[in-house]
Amino acid sequence: MPTGAQELADIARGPSNAPLDAPSIEAIAQGLKAYRRSAAPSLGPLKLVIDGKARPFYQAIADPKVPFARVEVALEAAPPASDWVFLRPFSRILLAGDGSAEVHPPSGPKERVIARWLPREGWRHPGHRPSGRLPTPSGLPTAIREGGFLPFGAALEIYASEERWRYEIDLLDGRLLADPRAGRYPKAARVRWPSRAAWSLDRLIARSNLAPDDARLLEAVAEIEPGARSDLGGPTQPGRDVQGLERLAARHLVEADPATGRWQIVPEALGGGTRAPAPRRAPAPARGLQESVRGLLAEADARATCPMCGDAFAPGGHGLLCDRCQREVLGAPSS
Ligand SMILES: [Zn+2]
Repeated sequence: MPTGAQELADIARGPSNAPLDAPSIEAIAQGLKAYRRSAAPSLGPLKLVIDGKARPFYQAIADPKVPFARVEVALEAAPPASDWVFLRPFSRILLAGDGSAEVHPPSGPKERVIARWLPREGWRHPGHRPSGRLPTPSGLPTAIREGGFLPFGAALEIYASEERWRYEIDLLDGRLLADPRAGRYPKAARVRWPSRAAWSLDRLIARSNLAPDDARLLEAVAEIEPGARSDLGGPTQPGRDVQGLERLAARHLVEADPATGRWQIVPEALGGGTRAPAPRRAPAPARGLQESVRGLLAEADARATCPMCGDAFAPGGHGLLCDRCQREVLGAPSS
């Protein structure tokens, strides 16, 4: 059942839990209309089982006693294989409140993963200060209940053993949305981001508090092979989304790749908080496209921190979690 503007206005609170004022109610209604007009095509309805009961996301938010300790996200029907394109097929995903999770593929064994939300379109009160973090499955409801913030859609980031997958989810109508890269780029152009490196990228996006379209643009720059995204051009060869890319460049998030002249993520932007920024590299001699992508992934990997505790990794490891969290959260590594 779709969630309407009135229902949202009844749930929403201003910052510090104050009652909503009339301009905020109007902003929610307008934002909702814009979201429904522009959201990506649906791949199918989702059934959400939140703490044992099937119910819409915002119905559970409205009940402060629901902890979101265990959330099942299940597809009511499998989309045709051709619709998945950039996404790994699943039948259901079980999210524990702390972010440990299980993905059940349509066939074959389940996989233990780490999950985080990245809020996308929604309403923010002008006085709301975004956390700049990727909330856990129970952290997102807490942030909404604190007031000033209502996500209409969110990306569910799944950090699996081999790579990170991102599912765009409509939280209002409970739908899985098509990946924004589908139909625009060939599937073969997808850059695989191993989970640790992807965690650096996703944290960069979260703390930059980008408008959702700019965040997706940054993701396209990072996750599509440079040779396949000539539509995005470069600083000297403007392509699509010129203004969005210039906004990202002005914030030092993208720059010209010395190898290709095309936009690339600024590697130094991937470092976050716990380490001193790496010294600025001298402009690299022209390398192949593959080399520049590999260099960026290595840079992101070197700057990753443990997604559960935030500690820096011991040198030489490649797991998604530090050794301690690996034992506590995922149990012994499965062989
Ligand atoms: Zn840890």
